[in-house]
Amino acid sequence: MISMDNEELSRYSRHIMLPEIGLSGQQKLLAAKVLIIGAGGLGSPAALYLAASGVGEISIADFDIVELNNLQRQIAHDEDQIGHAKVSSCSNRMGKINSAIHIKPLNNNLSGEQLDSQVALADIVVDCTDNLTTRFEINKACVKNKKRLVSAAAIRWEGQISVYECGSPDSPCYHCFYGNSVDIDQSCSQNGIVSPVVGVLGSMQAIEVIKLIVDTGDKLMGRVLLFDALSMQWESMQLPKNPACPVCGNKKD
Ligand SMILES: [Zn+2]
Repeated sequence: MISMDNEELSRYSRHIMLPEIGLSGQQKLLAAKVLIIGAGGLGSPAALYLAASGVGEISIADFDIVELNNLQRQIAHDEDQIGHAKVSSCSNRMGKINSAIHIKPLNNNLSGEQLDSQVALADIVVDCTDNLTTRFEINKACVKNKKRLVSAAAIRWEGQISVYECGSPDSPCYHCFYGNSVDIDQSCSQNGIVSPVVGVLGSMQAIEVIKLIVDTGDKLMGRVLLFDALSMQWESMQLPKNPACPVCGNKKD
């Protein structure tokens, strides 16, 4: 177990006083390795909260550059960062919040072998990307490496979040549910997004990551939570495993 000095005990005191986290839970957070893919609208709050929470090693991947229109919702970045790599902007901000953790910026469109090797190094993968092709690829790498995947998406006034125990025989994967949904590949660049909706979903991803690491509460495993900000309603749905899923299904016939 990782020992904490007085500064760390003070920094994380609001976690440590919670019976569900406590000293041992905070030690688990400090020992955890999380890979966040995407430093945009979802990735900003997820990365900042996980850094503040003391997740000991956070790799953050993005290949994009900060643009003016990102600042409406991607709160890790600021006006001084326009034209700079999102991943440096986000990791600098994380480091200013918590200099005691290890932050690995990956200025890279993770795919293929690189994606596979980064997923293999992580305990939990957080999908904060905004396109279906990348999401399918991340899911595949998580199933192959048997990693837990915390996935969210947001568009207009709506968002959704789910957690997959990828590679576990009974758990569905992202592909089980979305495999045939080619038409959901919509991005907020074409459809718009209400700024704090991504904040809510990205923050919820951070909450689920903490619950998974500490192993507490009722996790979103095998469920999807749908959020409608206009009606201010949440809806929860079970995600069945698809036995014929080409990614996680039983391929023996
Ligand atoms: Zn599947």
